[in-house]
Amino acid sequence: MKRIFIDAGHGGTNIGAVGHAMRENDIVLEVALELGRLLEAAGLETMQTRTADTSVTNAQRPVRANNWQADLFVSIHVNAGGGFGAETIHSRIRPQDKATARGINDIFAREMGLRNRGVHIDLPPRVPAGPLSVFAGINMPAVLVELGFIDAPAGTPDVDMLRNRRKEMAAALAKGILAHFGINPEEKQPLQASAVRFDLKGKRVDVEGFLKEGRNFVMARPLLEALGYGVDWDNDAQTIVVR
Ligand SMILES: [Zn+2]
Repeated sequence: MKRIFIDAGHGGTNIGAVGHAMRENDIVLEVALELGRLLEAAGLETMQTRTADTSVTNAQRPVRANNWQADLFVSIHVNAGGGFGAETIHSRIRPQDKATARGINDIFAREMGLRNRGVHIDLPPRVPAGPLSVFAGINMPAVLVELGFIDAPAGTPDVDMLRNRRKEMAAALAKGILAHFGINPEEKQPLQASAVRFDLKGKRVDVEGFLKEGRNFVMARPLLEALGYGVDWDNDAQTIVVR
């Protein structure tokens, strides 16, 4: 099962960026917790840096993700300093993460109808002080999403989104993360989760079904078809006809 380490930026005494009576530490925590719920519901395992408004040093974040052996590290932040739109940063020590950053950023910007500011490595001017300590020593794909600008003018999409669309932001991030793992959320996950796997003389076949009281129950048609039979339903006789 894939493990996603969700890093709500800032927290506690570190409130992050502020604007329009909003604080970055509050916004990213709400988005992070909802993102965790959505990914768990999709069958992934998650770990949060923080689940409340508590202080965490940047150095602790990648250490925890490494120790937990996460498959993906997603740090969630809000931008400031004049501008509009979403951008995602990845570490200079992991140039191979560019495609992951781009995938998540593109889906997020598109889903939220936001300006897409693209993907950047943690170098100036995007990160004046870089490299980012939140990426220090990280040993799995790692991205830092800047959701939007908290100090954009009132009435802009960024401000409306940060104030009123936090669940939607989480859903957009979840979509990008699932895409990174090749999981299509449109597919009915329960069917996959309740499949019974057969080894039919060396051919692996997953058939819809479930385990109950130590016994496997499966759908007859896909199993019989996998065995090479033709299957029809005789409605008059209320019988499954196997040819
Ligand atoms: Zn931040």
